[in-house]
Amino acid sequence: MTERIPVMKPWFGPEEAEAAAAAVASGWVAQGPRVAEFEAAFAARIGVADAVAVSSCTTALHLALIGAGVGPGDEVVVPSFSFIATANAVRYVGARPVFADVDAATGNLTAETVDAVRTAATRAVVLVDQGGVPADLDAVRELCDPLGIVVVEDAACGAGSLLRGRPVGAGAAFATYSFHPRKLLTCGEGGMVTVDRPEVGARLRRLREHGMSVSAADRDAADRGGAAPVIETYDELGFNYRMTDVQAAIALVQLGRLDAMVARRRELAARYRTLLAGVAGLRLVGDPAYGETNFQACWVLLDEDFPYGRDELLGKLSAAGISGRRGIMAAHLEPAYADTKHVPLPVTERLTRDSLILPLFHEMTEAQQDRVVAELVAAAGGPAAGTAAAMAEAGA
Ligand SMILES: *Cc1c(COP(=O)(O)O)cnc(C)c1O
Repeated sequence: MTERIPVMKPWFGPEEAEAAAAAVASGWVAQGPRVAEFEAAFAARIGVADAVAVSSCTTALHLALIGAGVGPGDEVVVPSFSFIATANAVRYVGARPVFADVDAATGNLTAETVDAVRTAATRAVVLVDQGGVPADLDAVRELCDPLGIVVVEDAACGAGSLLRGRPVGAGAAFATYSFHPRKLLTCGEGGMVTVDRPEVGARLRRLREHGMSVSAADRDAADRGGAAPVIETYDELGFNYRMTDVQAAIALVQLGRLDAMVARRRELAARYRTLLAGVAGLRLVGDPAYGETNFQACWVLLDEDFPYGRDELLGKLSAAGISGRRGIMAAHLEPAYADTKHVPLPVTERLTRDSLILPLFHEMTEAQQDRVVAELVAAAGGPAAGTAAAMAEAGA
C-alpha cells in the first residue's frame, strides 16, 4: 500500500520543539516576552510600523475592523469567495457584509468589482489575498482612499507573497495574517494584525487584552523592578485574543523558515505547471502581472467539459491515496448567509464549483508529485474503456 499524500503538512524541525520547551521551562507560558519578540520580528519582515499578535486571523480581522471604525449600520465589501471568517468578522462588529465578485484569474476582488457594489454606506473593504495570490491593493486603494473607505487586507494566506516587490500587507492601513497549519507559517493557532501607525497598534494591543491600560507583562516588569504597583484601568470594551509565548516561540522559528518555504512551494508549483502543461481542461493558478504568490493554495480550475466533475475527480484522487480539497468556498452559498442580498456572482460560483486544491507541502517529493500528476493525466483522458465509470457514461 502506497502512503497517502496529504494536501498540506507543516514543515517543522527539532528547533520548534526546542523553542516551545524553552518557553515552558521559563515559566512564562501566556503572552509575554516571546510574543513581543515575534511581533517585532514580523513587523520588520513585512516592513510595517507595528504588528500585534493575536489568537487567530479571525480575531485579527475583528480587531482590524474595530480599528477601522466599522460598526452597526456600516456596509463592508467582501468577497464571498473566501473562507467564511472574512464575512463573519464584519458581522461581529454589527456591520453588513456586501459581497462583490472576483477576478477569474486571481480569485480576488478588483477595483472594478468593488466599485460595482459600493454605496454611500460603505465604510470598509476587506481585500483578500486568496490562497496567497496577491490582490491589487494599490488599485483598490486608488478607488477607496478618496472616498474615505478603509481597505483592510485579509492576508491570512499571504505571508511571503509579494505585491510589486513588497511583502503583501505592507501597503495597507490594516493587514491580518493566520498561523493555522493550512497556511505556510504555523504555530498551531495564531494570528497577527499589522498597522501603518504605532498609535493604532497600541490601541489594538489593549483591545486584545480585555481593554486593559497596562499589560500583564508590563505590570510584572514593574513588580520585578521594585516599582510601586501599577493599577490598570479598562477604558473600552476589550477581548481576550492573546497569543501565548509557547505559540510565539514556535512562530519565531517558523518566521526564519518563511523564505525557504516560499521558495520550495514556488519550485513545486512550477513543476506542476510543467508536468500539467499538455493536459487538456486544467488551468493552474499562477502569479498575477503585478506580484508573486506563495502558492499557499495550489488550485486548478477544471474546464466545463473536463471528463469528470470536480467532486468526482476528488473521489478518484482519494481512491488513489491522494488528499485534494475542494477549491475556495463561497460564503453566499452557505446557510449562515442565506438571507444576505447580493449582486450576481457568476465568477465566484464558477470558481467555487469547478476548482480543487492540489497537494503541495514543503517536504513533498517529486515521486509524490508524479503520482498526483499521473492521476490528473489519466482523468483528463476520460474514463478508460471497460471501467465502471465508462460503462456508466455509456449508459450500460
Ligand atoms: C484561514 C483564513 C482565515 C481564518 O484564519 P484563522 O487563523 O483560522 O482564524 C481568514 N481569512 C482567510 C482568507 C483565510 O484563508
